[in-house]
Amino acid sequence: MTTHDKRYVIIGNGIAGTTAADTLRKNDPNCSIHLLTNEPYPLYNRVSLPRFLQGVIVEQKVMIRDFAWHEQRNIRLITETLVTDLNTEERTVVTDKGQNLPYDALLVASGGWANPLRVPGVEGTKHIYNFVTLDDTKTIIARMLESRTALAYGGSFISYELCDGFAVRKLDTTWIMRGPFWLRSCLDPDGGEVIDNIAKKFGVEVVHGDEIDRVVPQNGVPGYVITKKGRHIQADLIGVGLGITLNTQFLKHTPIETRNGVVVNEYLETNVPGVYAAGDVAEFFDPTIGLHHTMGTWDNAMAHGRIVGINMAGGHEPYVDVPTYTSPLFDVNIAVVGTAEANNPELEPIARREPGEKGNENYRKLFFRENKLVGVLMIGSPKGRKKLVEIVKNQQPIERSAEREALLELK
Ligand SMILES: Cc1cc2nc3c(=O)[nH]c(=O)nc-3n(C[C@H](O)[C@H](O)[C@H](O)COP(=O)(O)OP(=O)(O)OC[C@H]3O[C@@H](n4cnc5c(N)ncnc54)[C@H](O)[C@@H]3O)c2cc1C
Repeated sequence: MTTHDKRYVIIGNGIAGTTAADTLRKNDPNCSIHLLTNEPYPLYNRVSLPRFLQGVIVEQKVMIRDFAWHEQRNIRLITETLVTDLNTEERTVVTDKGQNLPYDALLVASGGWANPLRVPGVEGTKHIYNFVTLDDTKTIIARMLESRTALAYGGSFISYELCDGFAVRKLDTTWIMRGPFWLRSCLDPDGGEVIDNIAKKFGVEVVHGDEIDRVVPQNGVPGYVITKKGRHIQADLIGVGLGITLNTQFLKHTPIETRNGVVVNEYLETNVPGVYAAGDVAEFFDPTIGLHHTMGTWDNAMAHGRIVGINMAGGHEPYVDVPTYTSPLFDVNIAVVGTAEANNPELEPIARREPGEKGNENYRKLFFRENKLVGVLMIGSPKGRKKLVEIVKNQQPIERSAEREALLELK
């Protein structure tokens, strides 16, 4: 096979898949590229969906690419088409439209889909929403405009974004989570309280340690929910943030190794030659911590897309980066850098909570592994974040506890 007729197929046109397509075109001008998605849109910005939900920006501001962009680069974008199977021996991709697309190199960049609410009363009841796609967002907005009460459910980032959207639109909002505080995979009770206080300032009623037991619909819409602890909570709509399941189902008949995600090395190659994975769905080897992990952040997915595009076109670049998630939460910022895992016994955390601006609080938590800083979580003032990211990147030893404490004050 000559280089000019190399055939690339990419599953998923999120930021990882679309960046990979763009990079492939730049590195291999004569190849063919098929970019597949079950959604109807060219690339849009998922990170902007919360601001669209709040009504702060309009739909056009969410879009990043249009169909013409793909045509100009001779990238064949195939929308509303679900990949259902792969044949790695024959190197073909099977879709629900009956296509059998041959490939020389394949990229799995399929991200994840939201876990639905599964309790009695959900089936057949309208206005119970996940929040991952542009279409989800449009439907939620339409319902919010005719609603008075809303319920955000779950302890994830998505539940927070939903709660934020409901409260900013002045709905009477309750936020229920099963755990004792929000984001318990990273935070501690003190940090959880900082978050609660921010939500309460926006009029949200925060309920911990409880779950939806059942939804009690009235005329096909969720009148109210009953929780495990017996509370009755009114809700014209329910927003569900119960985490995501990574999209690997279509790989089940293949020898491609999967755990939570698709297992790849630092070059984003799977165990099957010619098959790569990138973005949220990739469970990649991270040389900075010496472990495989998944990372659900925009910057990580974009950087993966660039590296994998280079490698699929014949390059050999490892992915080495410190992933960072930044998001506005109501009117404060939150940043999660590197490995910020509260329940990881290998990590030693230290934290500080102090008064911040506009009556809010600042909270900073640092995670050390052996004598190195490996993770950072910041709520409120972002001052010092860039320096902390550099320290994580450089892996410089920080032996003394006084030095560690000083990082809690770094500006
Ligand atoms: C509401 C929301 C807010 C967020 N906010 C932030 C933030 O503030 N900061 C941050 O860093 N990150 C944020 N994220 C996470 C960030 O958006 C993701 O990490 C990033 O978009 C992942 O990109 P990706 O290309 O890997 O996957 P995705 O964007 O998930 O794209 C994958 C695409 O593949 C499609 N697909 C899946 N399976 C198939 C199949 N079998 N056949 C065809 N197509 C398929 C999917 O439908 C999807 O269109 C947020 C996410 C959401 C949902």
